[in-house]
Amino acid sequence: MQIENFIGGNFIAPLNGDYLENHNPATGNVTSHIPNSTADDIAEAVQAAQDALPAWSALSLSERIEWLEKIAQALESRKDEIANIESMDTGKPINLARRVDAARSISNFEFFAKHAETLAELTYEMDDATNYVIRKPIGVVGLITPWNLPLYLLTWKIAPALVMGNTIVAKPSELTPLTANFLCEVLASIDFPKGVLNIVHGLGINAGQAILEHPQIKAISFTGGTSTGKIVAATAAPMFKKLSLELGGKNATIILDDANLSTAAKGAARAAFTNSGQVCLCGSRILVDAKIYDEFIPLLIDAVNTMKVGNPAQDDSDIGSVISPDHMKKVLSYIELAKQEGGRIISGGERMILPQPNSNGSFIAPTIIEGLGIDSRCATEEIFGPVATIHKFTGDEEAIRMANGTEYGLAGSVWTADLARGKSVAEKVESGILWVNTWLHRDLRTPFGGVKNSGVGREGGDWSLNFFSELTNICVKDD
Ligand code: NAD
Repeated sequence: MQIENFIGGNFIAPLNGDYLENHNPATGNVTSHIPNSTADDIAEAVQAAQDALPAWSALSLSERIEWLEKIAQALESRKDEIANIESMDTGKPINLARRVDAARSISNFEFFAKHAETLAELTYEMDDATNYVIRKPIGVVGLITPWNLPLYLLTWKIAPALVMGNTIVAKPSELTPLTANFLCEVLASIDFPKGVLNIVHGLGINAGQAILEHPQIKAISFTGGTSTGKIVAATAAPMFKKLSLELGGKNATIILDDANLSTAAKGAARAAFTNSGQVCLCGSRILVDAKIYDEFIPLLIDAVNTMKVGNPAQDDSDIGSVISPDHMKKVLSYIELAKQEGGRIISGGERMILPQPNSNGSFIAPTIIEGLGIDSRCATEEIFGPVATIHKFTGDEEAIRMANGTEYGLAGSVWTADLARGKSVAEKVESGILWVNTWLHRDLRTPFGGVKNSGVGREGGDWSLNFFSELTNICVKDD
C-alpha cells in the first residue's frame, strides 16, 4: 500500500517523489510506503489551509459543531477498521486499540462538539463599562503528534482546532501514519470542506521542522518527547507562535501502607504496562511503603503474570510489541544498564520471541526492577517501554520527595484506604495530573498537561478551546 499526503482535499504524492517504508512492529513486515515530505509539501498544505480559512471560519459555531458530529458518526460506522489499522501500525493489542484508540478518536469529536456548546460567555462589569470576550480563530494551526496513541492524540487536537474555526496542517508520526490517512479517507467520503484539514506525512526533521518554521502557521500544538519539545520551543517561540507542549513523563505510583494491596497491585501493573508502557502517563516508578513492601511484591508479580504478551491481532493478548526494533534496543539497553547500576530483575527482563507470524516482532516481557537508587538513570530517565523500577520509602514525606525527584512532572497515582491522606499526598506531588486509587480515569473536561520538563500549557475542555482561539476583550463604555 502506498499512501499520499492529503492537501486541499486531494490525495497527492510528495513533490520530491520520495517515500519511506512503514512497518508492522509485531511482525517486522513492511505494510506501506509513506511520503517523505519536505518544506515544499508543507508550503502547499499551508496554502490550501489559508485558502480554506475564510469560508471555514465564517461558518457559525453550530455549523462547525454539525461537522464534528458528522465526522464522529462516519468514524463510528468504521470503528473496527480504525482498531485494526491502529493495532497493525503500532503493534498494540486489538482489544486495546478498540477500547481505547478507536473509541477515544470518535469521542474526541463527540466531546468537543458538545463542549463547544457549553462555552461560557465571559463578561466583566465595571462601574461605567462592560467588558465582553469573544473567541476568534487563530488561523492556520500546526499539529504534530507521536506514535503511541496515533489517532487518539491527533483527533484530540483536530476536534477543538476545527470547532474554533481554524484550518489545519498536521503531521502524524512517521512510525504510525495509517489512521491519519484513514481519517482523510473518511473526510473525503463525507465531502468535508477541502483544505480545512491537511495531513502531510514524513520525518520530524523535514516535514515537522517545516511546520514549526512556516511563518503563516500561527500556533503549534505538539505532543512528543521532551528533547523534541525543546526544538519545537526554540524554533517557534522567537516567531511568537502560540505553543502547547505535551511532553514526556516518569510518573510515580505511590502505594501507602494502608492501601488495599490486591487492588493497588493490579492498578500498579496496569499503570506500568498498558500499551507496553508506552503511554506518557504510565507509572514507571512504583514507590511502596517499606512496611508493606514484602507483602506487595508477590501480588504485583501475580498481577503482571496475568497479562498475556501475544500476537496483537488476537483478542486475548494484553501486551503487544513495542513500536520498533530500534525502540526495543533502547528499552533493552536500559534493562542492561539497570543490572550494571545494581538492579535486580524480579519479573521479565528480556526480549520475547513469539511464534509465527510474530517471530520478528519487537516484544519485551513486562519487566520490574528492584534495588536501584531512586536517582539512578533507570529511575529518572523516560524509558517509555514495559519497564518499571520499584523502590521502598519510609513515611509519606519520603514518598513525596521520591516522586518529585525527576525533571518530569506529568502524572502519578496514590493508593490508600484514607482518601484525605491520599489527597494530601497527591496535592504535594509536582505533576499536572494525579489519581487517587485509580489510573488513567479521564474526564475530557479536565485540564491535561505537565509541569517541569513534561510540558507547557494545558489541553482538554475549555483549555483546548481557549488554546485554539484568540481571546479578544471588548470594553464598551456606558453612555
Ligand atoms: P518524538 O518527539 O520523537 O516525535 C513526536 C513527533 O514530533 C513526531 O511526529 C515526529 O516526527 C516529530 N518531530 C521529531 N523531530 C521534530 C522536529 N525537529 N521538528 C518538528 N517535529 C519533529 O516523540 P515520539 O517518540 O513519537 O513519542 C514518544 C514521546 O511522546 C514520549 O516522550 C512520550 O512521553 C511523549 N508523549 C507525551 C504525551 C503527553 O500528553 N504529554 C502523550 C503521548 C506521548
